[in-house]
Amino acid sequence: MTPEELLAFDREHVWHPYAPMPARHANHAVVSARGVRLTLADGTELIDGMSSWWAAIHGYDHPVLNAAIIDQLGRMAHVMFGGLTHPPAVELARTLLDLAPAGITKVFFADSGSVSVEVAIKMALQYWRARGVDRPRLLTVRGGYHGDTFGDMAVCDPVNGMHHLFTDVLASHVFAPEPPAGPDEAYTRELERLVAEHAHELAGIIAEPIVQGAGGMRFYDPSHLRTLRRLADEHGLLLILDEIATGFGRSGELWGADHAGVVPDIMCVGKALTGGYLSMAATLCTDGVAEGISASGEAPLMHGPTFMANPLAASVSLASLGLLAERDWRTEVKTIEAGLAAGLEEARAMPGVADVRTKGAIGVVQTEAPVDVQRVQAAAMAHGVWLRPFGRLIYTMPPYISTPEEVGRITAAMTAAARTLA
Ligand SMILES: *Cc1c(COP(=O)(O)O)cnc(C)c1O
Repeated sequence: MTPEELLAFDREHVWHPYAPMPARHANHAVVSARGVRLTLADGTELIDGMSSWWAAIHGYDHPVLNAAIIDQLGRMAHVMFGGLTHPPAVELARTLLDLAPAGITKVFFADSGSVSVEVAIKMALQYWRARGVDRPRLLTVRGGYHGDTFGDMAVCDPVNGMHHLFTDVLASHVFAPEPPAGPDEAYTRELERLVAEHAHELAGIIAEPIVQGAGGMRFYDPSHLRTLRRLADEHGLLLILDEIATGFGRSGELWGADHAGVVPDIMCVGKALTGGYLSMAATLCTDGVAEGISASGEAPLMHGPTFMANPLAASVSLASLGLLAERDWRTEVKTIEAGLAAGLEEARAMPGVADVRTKGAIGVVQTEAPVDVQRVQAAAMAHGVWLRPFGRLIYTMPPYISTPEEVGRITAAMTAAARTLA
């Protein structure tokens, strides 16, 4: 196919995320990627300000990650996980548990972040079922995002999520207001009231720790996470933390929960787990959760994806976690944070800009009105940068290997994009 034929067929026949079919706008064809750069079919090079949806933390075409997959490919690409196991899965589980907060001891491998949240919800529900207690609901906070499957959608923000499309079929959960950016006594009282009112029907509490990602790129005060942990303990509820976006250093700590010194009962990891190479996620939990589900002898955890613990994905995840352990990611993320804060400051005063904020390797320009995605993207691409804004958000989550110069290019592109709002 010529590049033109490829784009024409893509537009007519290939569905893209959150997009109509046929597509309203042509996509851009990428032919290769190396380091922090994507190369388009016409030879254009773009710095990837998105890390391919926050996953490619070590950049593209990394020799260590490539070698891990090639090496594993020489042994086996895949084998079923039912009744069989293999070194990459077991070694990855051990590495994950070494990294996870103390008390987290069990791993369930899922094939995507959304599925890992489904599994977390199922764990919480089965935990109570195994005790013969009917607790079918969860408490969560507004502004969250936990994935696109039905169980997950039901705990996503009810306004900016997809509730309005599926109100009649989604499970009904309890929503607390969005956690404020600073400490807030009134908010604490509201959480206390809501949990006390609903505790009898709640299996657990689910939230993204500190950073609310796709639900609005909001950062909230760690004290609210401590309140959720305290209330879960007081009422005997399970605390599920979705670390899919925050995990592996993105927010400046290894886990989002580390900002608050909180340990969840169940946690989800994904996105950066494989360094952005393949689809893999995991649901981790404590002995207590595993025992609670399994002790009654009633039903085991009823989940088992076909591609569970895929050896290629597990191998590249192990290599990615190895790279993370070797590199001074904390300093890299801090340096990126400083670069983002300095580079985006100028946008704060621009007309149409409501807020500018950074946390770890996350930089956000929030706009007053929903952005014209095509226009923002064109402005960023004119500066040699790939961005994928949504809603009122022009944001970046660059790869950790981004140099200060590359971060400067990204913030220049974002401010240029913000200038188009006027
Ligand atoms: C991206 C994301 C998910 C969904 O992960 P997928 O791999 O896209 O299914 C769930 N929770 C959070 C916090 C995410 O950022």
